[in-house]
Amino acid sequence: MAYNLNVLLRYLILSDVHSNLEALEECLAAAQGKFDEALCLGDLVGYGPDPNPVVERVRGICRVIVRGNHDKACSGVTGTEDFNPMARIATEWTRKRLSTEHLSFLRALPAGPIEVDGLELVHGSPRDEDEYVVDSYDALYILEELSFPLVFFGHTHIQGGFAIDAQGRCTAICCHSPSTSAPFTLQIAEGARYLINPGSVGQPRDGDWRAAFAIFDADQRAVAYYRVPYDVATTQKKMRLERLPDPLIQRLQWGR
Ligand code: ZN
Repeated sequence: MAYNLNVLLRYLILSDVHSNLEALEECLAAAQGKFDEALCLGDLVGYGPDPNPVVERVRGICRVIVRGNHDKACSGVTGTEDFNPMARIATEWTRKRLSTEHLSFLRALPAGPIEVDGLELVHGSPRDEDEYVVDSYDALYILEELSFPLVFFGHTHIQGGFAIDAQGRCTAICCHSPSTSAPFTLQIAEGARYLINPGSVGQPRDGDWRAAFAIFDADQRAVAYYRVPYDVATTQKKMRLERLPDPLIQRLQWGR
C-alpha cells in the first residue's frame, strides 16, 4: 500500500516534547511556513517543567496525536511501576500540575498505530505502543511486517530511523552531526519501507542537545530532519525552581 498520493501535504512530525516549552517554541518557529499539517507521536508531558502550556500548544497545532507512555502514566491510565525513580518523581509532579481539562485530554488520547493519509503513526512500534526500536535488529522484523511503507515512531528520543529496500536489506538512517545546522534530507525510494523517527523535541538522547523534529513532504517524497538550538538554560532554571531531579536537569544540556 502506498501513501495517498492525492494528499500532497507537508507534515510536521513532532515527538517526545516532554513539557519543554522553550524547545517546542523553537521547533515551531523553525518549521513555520514549511508545513501544512502537524502530527504528534506522543509523550507531550513528563520530565519537563511546563506540562500545561505544552499540552495547550500541541493540542492547538496537531491534527492527530497518538499517546505515549508518559501521557498514560501522567494522566493515570497506567501506573509508574515500569519507570525509574527519577521518571516516577517527574510523573507524580506532572500529575499534580496538570489541569483537570488537560488530564482528561491526555487520558482520552488514542493508542497507536493510527493511519493518516496512508502514513502510520505510532509511539513505540506498530506491534506494541511501548516497544523501544533502538537498533537495526529490533527494526528488521518490524520493517518486514509493515502494512504501510512509511511509519513514524518516537519513544527512543533518537533522531533517524531504519529502512529496508526492495531486496530486503536493512539500514539505519544516521542523519545529523552536532556541528551542522542544515536539515538532513532523506529521499523516499520506490519499493522500500521506512521507520522514521523525527527525534525528541524536548529531551534528545542521541548526543545532540538541540531540539529535533522532521517534516515529511509527500509531493517531494522526502523527509527533512531538523535540529534547532533552544534556550536550555531557561528550561533548566524552571526545573530547578520546581525541584525536579537534578539528573533530569543535567541531561538536557548533554542530549543524553
Ligand atoms: Zn518519551
